[in-house]
Amino acid sequence: MSTTEGTTEGATEFTVVGGGIAGLVVARKLAMAGRTVRLIEASDHLGGTVASRLVGGINLDSGAESFATRGNTVAELARELGLGDEIVSPSDEGAWLQPVTGAALPLPSTGVLGIPSTPLSVDTIAVLGLAGALRAQLDSLIPWFGRRTDISLGKLVRRRMGKAAVEKLVAPVVHGVYSLHPNDLPLDRVAGLTERLALHGSLAMAVRSLRDAMPAGTAVQGIRGGINRLVTELAADLKTYGVIVEFERRIESAEALADLDGTVIVAAPGILAPLRGRAVTLATLVLNSPELDAEPRGSGVLVAPDCTAVSARALTHSTAKWQWLKELAEGRHVVRLSYNTEPENLAEVARHDAEVLLGVELPPDAVVDFARQQWIRPAALTAAERTDGVIVVGETVGGTGLASIVTHANAAAERLLAPAEEAKTGSLPVCPQGAGENG
Ligand SMILES: Cc1cc2nc3c(=O)[nH]c(=O)nc-3n(C[C@H](O)[C@H](O)[C@H](O)COP(=O)(O)OP(=O)(O)OC[C@H]3O[C@@H](n4cnc5c(N)ncnc54)[C@H](O)[C@@H]3O)c2cc1C
Repeated sequence: MSTTEGTTEGATEFTVVGGGIAGLVVARKLAMAGRTVRLIEASDHLGGTVASRLVGGINLDSGAESFATRGNTVAELARELGLGDEIVSPSDEGAWLQPVTGAALPLPSTGVLGIPSTPLSVDTIAVLGLAGALRAQLDSLIPWFGRRTDISLGKLVRRRMGKAAVEKLVAPVVHGVYSLHPNDLPLDRVAGLTERLALHGSLAMAVRSLRDAMPAGTAVQGIRGGINRLVTELAADLKTYGVIVEFERRIESAEALADLDGTVIVAAPGILAPLRGRAVTLATLVLNSPELDAEPRGSGVLVAPDCTAVSARALTHSTAKWQWLKELAEGRHVVRLSYNTEPENLAEVARHDAEVLLGVELPPDAVVDFARQQWIRPAALTAAERTDGVIVVGETVGGTGLASIVTHANAAAERLLAPAEEAKTGSLPVCPQGAGENG
């Protein structure tokens, strides 16, 4: 049976289905503008993939744990919610790479998606070997005719910088970020790369120019105490502005939307089309291991797709990445591993993988606590699945990651609040899927 929170006067003008970040942002904006809003959520809590969980007595983000700084949208939202002083940058410890064979190596820090900007730099040579680095440097001599942009990132890098650059650098990063091999990542999903390639004629120069165009400071930020604090504050605002929240009510189909009051906004995947997507399993370990105090792999390790030494595709050393978490953990270490395919006996496999990737011994009694969490990353709706007239926000239409989704949800709310004539003629923005984050 569903439970309802909040009261409001008058007929419902808007019903938002789904209480993840997208639904919360839209519901809050509409309610702040004085409109009567009802939010329907299938589970017994708000936030969706922005969630938290106690592991080893520490309250940890159990889904998203950072946000992209581009566009400043999430930071702006955090400031509006009174969390401006709580925005933090990750430590400047870089990430590492676990190659197919051999020990982990530092990831060259000046690339984009692993594509080196300086193929003959010491850290790039360390990963590619001298022959591989010299082959990558040939990129500067190969003309760019720009005839084919409908190719994969893998194919482009292979042509211009050689196989080693793809397999040893780009594949581990793209695999860690998108769960894809670069051969399966269309070039046009890497925003701005082909344009800059056309402009500069070399891939390394294009990467350098992309990096120069990035805002100063870190590409991602977090919130002291966890990204999940956004949800706590959004939920508090819904209460303040009188939004009725119905928990444990699942809207089963597109047809069922017709029974809802007012203008309906779909902020949940799986309603307009069957839920498709990829599963991600997270294993979180809280560890007692003084050897990890030295943070041997910086903020974490990205794993080459064909590496058989471990099953994880990436590891984050969360207490090395976030100073606030290090303080909270009081000497213990938090490590998070992600898996595309969940292995049997995840707890043991995660302990073993952490040991290999971090390069320290982690006997079973080093594990203070373990938690498993599985998420689905929903695929984008196809044009055919986007029913005319139904307003949709969230990951299935708004792109990947909080920065894209919040930008899209803000724009959707503004359109809904625009005077009737304007609202009829305008269309909601659709950000390209894949513009953003990992997970
Ligand atoms: C493991 C992981 C790590 C991530 N890390 C990052 C990161 O570090 N940075 C970043 O920017 N992004 C990250 N992301 C992505 C980001 O968390 C999501 O893109 C974003 O939170 C999606 O928000 P949403 O509102 O679209 O959907 P969701 O969060 O999926 O919310 C949808 C809501 O709708 C509800 N619902 C579903 N079906 C129904 C129904 N039929 N009826 C009613 N309610 C329904 C759900 O219960 C849920 O509350 C990560 C994602 C995962 C899984």
